[in-house]
Amino acid sequence: MKRLLLIGAKTGYQTRTFADAAARLGLELTLATDRCHVLENPWGDDAVALEFKDPQDAARKLAEEGRFDGIVALGDGPAYLAAVAAQQLNLPYNSPQSVDNCRNKFLARRCFYDAGLLTPNFRRITDANTNVEFPCVLKPLSQSASRGVIRANNAEEFAEAFHRIKAIVPHDEFLLVEDFIPGREFALEGILTHGKLTVLAIFDKPDPLDGPFFEETLYITPSRLPAYARQEILYTTNKAIQALGLTHGPIHAEMRRNERGVWMLEVAARPIGGLCAKVLPGLEELILRHAAGEDVSTFALPDHAAGVMMIPIPRAGIYARVSGEDEARAVPLMEDVIVTAKIGQHLLPLPEGNSYLGFLFARGDAPARVEAALRQAHAKLRFELNAALPVL
Ligand code: ADP
Repeated sequence: MKRLLLIGAKTGYQTRTFADAAARLGLELTLATDRCHVLENPWGDDAVALEFKDPQDAARKLAEEGRFDGIVALGDGPAYLAAVAAQQLNLPYNSPQSVDNCRNKFLARRCFYDAGLLTPNFRRITDANTNVEFPCVLKPLSQSASRGVIRANNAEEFAEAFHRIKAIVPHDEFLLVEDFIPGREFALEGILTHGKLTVLAIFDKPDPLDGPFFEETLYITPSRLPAYARQEILYTTNKAIQALGLTHGPIHAEMRRNERGVWMLEVAARPIGGLCAKVLPGLEELILRHAAGEDVSTFALPDHAAGVMMIPIPRAGIYARVSGEDEARAVPLMEDVIVTAKIGQHLLPLPEGNSYLGFLFARGDAPARVEAALRQAHAKLRFELNAALPVL
């Protein structure tokens, strides 16, 4: 029986789907999580609780857990620990430096620039009195899910955005500022085997994402771009992967495309996050089989269309209830409606927040119909949020 190590920041939905998939495949899975998220032995399964903030020490502890045949990481922090651990355990995986290049938006930009990829002007800044071109985008160096990413069109908006982001990441020394890249956005899900990329899906993000905040909302696959444009995306993704130094394991890349070409936004050394992965059924099995050393290069893209909507939080408030779920489910092509907000939960929209009200999934014969179904289902949902009382 092959034995795999799964590193996740916390035990949640995604770790559970991986554990289920491993059981189906007959693989033994050892779960390692971040100690600060583990209150007790959550599944009674003796997950190894580690201090992720000390990856060297955590990797040493993992090396004491015996021999592993492969390693899988869920999330950016776990991917770094996996990279350090893989070196000690002598397993194929990305190097720690390459994962660090992905996690740090400034390092990633520098890698892309040095490799000759289309790159916006970018600069690390420490104060709001900086001369920049407009429109620009300000962001923290190491957040995700568009948290703290703000477009500024003039000096006033710039100063406001700067202070707003500083309040989100008060301990960050630098913020990143870069030119706003106009264009439509796409994502590519893939898996690397010793440097060779296998594409699992290319997603269109059909909503215009022009700011000032950048809600992710819709991912629809297959892409409706013509073949040559998909080739451009693939070409640039491969270049970006090489520039970062990634070699082995799942990747999730986000890019923009305009008349000048494809601009890489980021490549993450991990699969598409959490519940969204449901849009690609079988993804967990594929990643586990890959980690166990199986050849996945002949993976065939599903021939149907699929899509997910991450339901954005419209405003701050306390989540009370949702209505219209049954109507949303009844929309043709809808596969699932999952509300993740919990009653009584304080919800924050972007740029401060980093969660969603829930997720909608649809599947069908054509991407345009899947997209229409998701929009129709979303329109049926009514979320009630109560005003949060100010804390006195
Ligand atoms: P995160 O890792 O938090 O998702 P990103 O840097 O990928 O942060 O930015 C999140 C979103 O913000 C992107 O998907 C894109 O829509 C938008 N964005 C970020 N940088 C730029 C830019 N330079 N020009 C235009 N849009 C941008």
